[in-house]
Amino acid sequence: MAKSTNNHDHGAVCSLCGRPSTLVSKGITAGNLFLCEDCLIRACNVLGLEVVSEEEAMALKASKQSPLSPGGFNLDTPAELKKFMDEYVVGQERVKKILSVAIYNHYKRLKYLDENKSADKGSKLELEKSNVLLIGPTGSGKTLLARTIAKKLNVPFAIADATTLTEAGYVGDDVENILLRLIQAADYDLAKAQVGIIFIDEIDKIAKRSENVSITRDVSGEGVQQALLKILEGTVANVPPKGGRKHPMEEYIKLDTTNILFICSGAFVGLDQIIQRRIGQRVLGFGKKQDLLSLPDSNSTNSAILDLAEPEDLLKFGLIPEFIGRLPVIGSLRPLSQQDLIRILTEPKNSIVRQYQELFKMDDATLVIQDEALQEIASIAEKKGTGARGLKAIFERIMLDYMFDLPNMSGKTFTLTKEMVLQKQEPDYERK
Ligand code: ADP
Repeated sequence: MAKSTNNHDHGAVCSLCGRPSTLVSKGITAGNLFLCEDCLIRACNVLGLEVVSEEEAMALKASKQSPLSPGGFNLDTPAELKKFMDEYVVGQERVKKILSVAIYNHYKRLKYLDENKSADKGSKLELEKSNVLLIGPTGSGKTLLARTIAKKLNVPFAIADATTLTEAGYVGDDVENILLRLIQAADYDLAKAQVGIIFIDEIDKIAKRSENVSITRDVSGEGVQQALLKILEGTVANVPPKGGRKHPMEEYIKLDTTNILFICSGAFVGLDQIIQRRIGQRVLGFGKKQDLLSLPDSNSTNSAILDLAEPEDLLKFGLIPEFIGRLPVIGSLRPLSQQDLIRILTEPKNSIVRQYQELFKMDDATLVIQDEALQEIASIAEKKGTGARGLKAIFERIMLDYMFDLPNMSGKTFTLTKEMVLQKQEPDYERK
């Protein structure tokens, strides 16, 4: 039988062209015969046989494998998903519920497709994919939510920034590079990548707006939305294996995006006013008061109004209708209050305070943080206006000198006070 080989007999020469096997990368041996790759392809062409590249063969194999292979992701109920999110993400109750239902439906759909894959098309129900759009201020937990979900489901996860993407022909990343990141996160296991989650941040920055002018990007943002649209709705994409721009001579990895879940996110500054205007107009024009009545409470902040976002608002914001149509699940996140920031410092399973306490324990020391100190840290973070994003940096800055001394603190207790946070007091290692 013929055998494909990379390590052929070093003395062998191609039986057709006579090239020594040491000068070719691949070939086939059959008994005493050796055929180099080039002659083999030529022979296949003469015989009218289709030559499939290794990448294509991999994609073919992946598409035949079940996306729900044993040991793959677990199908958890929405309540279980939310409970897991609660362990890592503080607050944002409504969006956690929206996400857990969307994720549950998404993977239930995959299960359905898998179980009914042999059923004929007519009897199969078309269950549409529901990608998600998360709207909320920076540092409020959008990325954290998506990452947490991927961790729970044990599926590969990739993050992309929409602002680095460009329409083909402009300077920047092709949208397929997003898929390459997912493939890399799946260790090049295409079957796994094809049921992964892709998080695309700053999606609001590719809205078509006149102020978005740049000579290196497409001016309107519409081209990027169009390019993203294809992978969002499901296509077999040609992914350049090395990333960067596509090259005509390159062989591509073929990845089917039909079952990849996309979670897009952005701050959408100004969207609240668009919604407000719509709601106001309705009340004035047609007396349709239920929109206002359905506001979460009568003193609702602008962030609560985002819960009422509808496709027409996103259209006004600058997303194209087809793109909006591919993001049917919308969830909005609230800005984090000072109280939330304190909870984030202490409550999550891997909270900053817990991590530092563990570091102290490893040096046989104890870390105690006074409530006023926590409040002060949260207040500094709140003033920065970057949500919980700044908390870690602030905490690290405050703790730097104490961490430097930590190896000498064995057996001691260190209490962080508000004055220390404000750098008005020297450390006192024995204070209880
Ligand atoms: P964004 O909304 O901009 O995507 P991220 O999810 O990246 O924000 O949050 C930045 C960091 O702030 C996270 O890594 C996490 O440590 C913290 N964080 C933000 N929001 C929350 C939250 N609701 N609960 C717990 N931690 C949070």
